[in-house]
Amino acid sequence: MMSEKIILTADRPTGRLHIGHYVGSLKRRVQLQNSGEFDKVFIMIADAQALTDNADNPEKVRQNILEVALDYLAIGLDPEKSVIFIQSQIPELCELSFYYMNLVTVSRLQRNPTVKAEIKARDFETSIPVGFFTYPISQAADITAFRATTVPVGEDQEPMLEQAKEIVHKFNTIYGETLVEPEILLPDNKACLRLPGIDGNAKMSKSLGNCIYLADEPGDVKKKIMSMFTDPNHIRVEDPGRIEGNTVFTYLDAFALDDHFARYLPEYKNLDELKEHYKRGGLGDVKVKKFLNHILQEELEPIRNRRKEYEKDPAAIYQMLHDGSIKAKRAAEETLSEVKKSMGINYF
Ligand code: ATP
Ligand code: MG
Repeated sequence: MMSEKIILTADRPTGRLHIGHYVGSLKRRVQLQNSGEFDKVFIMIADAQALTDNADNPEKVRQNILEVALDYLAIGLDPEKSVIFIQSQIPELCELSFYYMNLVTVSRLQRNPTVKAEIKARDFETSIPVGFFTYPISQAADITAFRATTVPVGEDQEPMLEQAKEIVHKFNTIYGETLVEPEILLPDNKACLRLPGIDGNAKMSKSLGNCIYLADEPGDVKKKIMSMFTDPNHIRVEDPGRIEGNTVFTYLDAFALDDHFARYLPEYKNLDELKEHYKRGGLGDVKVKKFLNHILQEELEPIRNRRKEYEKDPAAIYQMLHDGSIKAKRAAEETLSEVKKSMGINYF
């Protein structure tokens, strides 16, 4: 079997990308893309998956394809090095899903904790669209169609990768070695596994409206940071404060480097010293939030500026997506053909 190293990851075009995506997956993708360690990198805009819980709003999904593509280019994904494409343009993915559906039970899908949480968040309890319920299967099709060995994503995707591995294993056992087993690649930094929303909610998510977007203007970023959830019992500056569950400190865990301190808060050497002072009392939320604001502004400014350049030529973005989709389709066609051969359904 081929031992190529291949990356596949995706984002749903349900909104612009946010700093949760950035630390959970995007930043890593750019590093991997530029590392030269991978034979191929596939980056998919998962519009078909977005329709599974937005069937009544195709216009939203359509518009956000461009937004997500702009965010990609702005953070440094490079169409010369990565194949950037649109899921719905690859019909082979539907065909693969159709065959994989026979390898998964309803009760197995019902156990998926991420889907469970998403059903709850969307008030789908009594009205789950079948397409939404089965999206872990279609995700397995996405991953295996491109023979992905490495899937750099956030922690919420762990159950999806487990499901994909089970399908690969079952398929290969029944029909013979055909599909490649993927490995999840989680962020090293614990704070980046699942960045909370600015409201302190467990996950920053487009669908929850608690995001700092990569494209937010400086004033909006600042406003959002100043309104962030901290420790509700830390009322006066001299009060001792809690770090655990304090979203501002979780963001600092995700973004602060020692040289940020040298530049913006030289009275502290590092984050540990800042945390100690906060816990002791005598350090106000506003000072900590201002520090976080400096750091995020510094990180987001070049991204925002590059995005504005790309925004000038949407036709070029669509052309790039078109070219990428043609390349991706070719790769998926090959896998589907192998799959049908293994299943013995290549009749003609
Ligand atoms: P939706 O609410 O529409 O599902 P989302 O904000 O959850 O949107 P996705 O497109 O589902 O975003 O996720 C894209 C990628 O970003 C996945 O790899 C996911 O693990 C990662 N990701 C999403 N939100 C976070 C977060 N808050 N922290 C870390 N990683 C995240
Ligand atoms: Mg999601």
